[in-house]
Amino acid sequence: MYRSHTCGELRIEDVNKEVTLAGWVQTVRKFGSITFVDLRDRYGITQLLFNEEFNKNLDNEPIGREYVIQVIGKVLERSNKNNKIPTGEVEIEVTSFKILNKSAVPPFTIEEDTDGGEELLMKYRYLDLRRAPLQRSMFLRHKVNRAVRSYLDNAGFIEIETPYLIKSTPEGARDFIVPSSMNKGQFYALPQSPQTFKQLLMVSGYDKYYQIVKCFRDEALRADRQPEFTQIDCEMSFVEQEDIIQAFEELTKYVLKEVNNLEIAGAMPRMTWEEAMRDYGNDKPDIRFEMKIANCKVSNTVNCKALEGLDFKVFNDAESILAIAVEGCEDYTRKQIDELTEWVKRPQIGMSGMIYMKCNADGTYKSSIDKFLDDERKQQLAEFCNAKPGDIVFILAGGEDLTRKAISELRLEMGKRLGLRNPNDYKPLWVIDFPLLEHDEEEGRWVARHHPFTSPKKEHLELLGQPDKYGEIKAYAYDLVINGTEIGGGSIRIHERDVQEKMFAALGMDKEEANERFGFLLGAFEYGAPPHGGIAFGFDRLCSLLGGKESIRDFIAFPKNNAGRDMMIDAPSKVDASQLDDLSISVLEPKKNN
Ligand code: ASP
Repeated sequence: MYRSHTCGELRIEDVNKEVTLAGWVQTVRKFGSITFVDLRDRYGITQLLFNEEFNKNLDNEPIGREYVIQVIGKVLERSNKNNKIPTGEVEIEVTSFKILNKSAVPPFTIEEDTDGGEELLMKYRYLDLRRAPLQRSMFLRHKVNRAVRSYLDNAGFIEIETPYLIKSTPEGARDFIVPSSMNKGQFYALPQSPQTFKQLLMVSGYDKYYQIVKCFRDEALRADRQPEFTQIDCEMSFVEQEDIIQAFEELTKYVLKEVNNLEIAGAMPRMTWEEAMRDYGNDKPDIRFEMKIANCKVSNTVNCKALEGLDFKVFNDAESILAIAVEGCEDYTRKQIDELTEWVKRPQIGMSGMIYMKCNADGTYKSSIDKFLDDERKQQLAEFCNAKPGDIVFILAGGEDLTRKAISELRLEMGKRLGLRNPNDYKPLWVIDFPLLEHDEEEGRWVARHHPFTSPKKEHLELLGQPDKYGEIKAYAYDLVINGTEIGGGSIRIHERDVQEKMFAALGMDKEEANERFGFLLGAFEYGAPPHGGIAFGFDRLCSLLGGKESIRDFIAFPKNNAGRDMMIDAPSKVDASQLDDLSISVLEPKKNN
């Protein structure tokens, strides 16, 4: 028997028991003739006391950080109690010990906080995973996984695995491709999602499918993206948008309750995509705070009286003028305003400047463009922006998309600075009625906003053959957003071959290409495809949200870094020439810009 108890188990009631523990040495503290050792495993930390007699043994057989040891000893009540840990009232007086394995000096401290830099922590991820914060993340992930499965199982969903070696599934990113030696010159693609397979399962009659599944997208990484990530992927038959929203709203509430003991009361609010863009400047609004955008001028149309007939070049030249009223910030200093102006001028935001108007408590106004705005206009502007005395209005003017993105970022930044984005305050929101298509300016063609299998709304179906109306088509597509993070999204699918063909045509695919790429799906639609729809939640993101952290990396046992590399195993890497020979592949020098 290696151990009678874990390192997180012993309490004051266990005093006088003889116990055997095994674990890792976290710290060794010598005090004259006695030594204290903190012994750690994934259950906790227990203090060991090596008294005078055993201290000598330690001199002969020294132990260091991260040694794996086994000790036998007696549980004692500690005179100096530590109420920060559950085992803090007791310690083990060691009567015998054994080194099970030595450890090299670890490259960083393996404690609650560490002194290791990011690269080092990634390289020695297996050591970092010993630390309590990462253990907590792994447990949380496990709990979320369990809650999701238990909910879906009770709701009659069945889990079916779908293949990883497939043909491209478009989700808007680049595919990872896998060569095949049995089929030289041919490649599989790793799934960007199981989208087409789950739809085929509906054709096969397995309504209510789910899978907690890896998806692969070869795209530039950000804090909340990984080249391989996990989705809670679902599909249902004989459902409408409302059924899916209801089911997954319930799932979300169940998970929040099970994992974080959070109750979300009442129905989750909903907002159309258009409202989200208009009032918050993006399609995943953080509704923990209001601060709605005032659309003073949009697409060259002036909406705010204060700006009508104004002789101010910046405003006249701007396609859009958008503003936010920030509550209680009328006392912002010159320095604070200058600093914020620099903030919106950073390349990531890209504005050329920022205009402000202070709404003084006494009802007067002070703005950076007083020369152009008389008192009446200032008052009209304040009213339009819903600004009260004591507020400051920030105004951005410029190109439409740029300005909308910038005001949205500025709003989030102000929300953060004012402490309005409390991570423990969960505000879910459904965003619905997404556009079906969006115009890709670079490629000069229409692309699917969600994916090509999403159904247009019934009333917009007839617009599918009219390219000049493509921008107006709305889809049965929905996203669940929590605190400004997109947790998941899905859609009702097209289930009729002719509609799907029209959709492919709208995306610029001729019949031949559509058949070559998606013939299997079009074919399946001829054999009694039921009406169906589904959704996928980002599992890693859901975990990071519930864990109150921004990065999903902390919730993935072995993540990749920003460059998509696994620093621990050093991948991706070159392969042997013989492996390439087997595949009849030769590798060209990488292009400079890659
Ligand atoms: N396949 C979609 C995605 O990965 C989700 C869905 O439509 O169910 O985003």
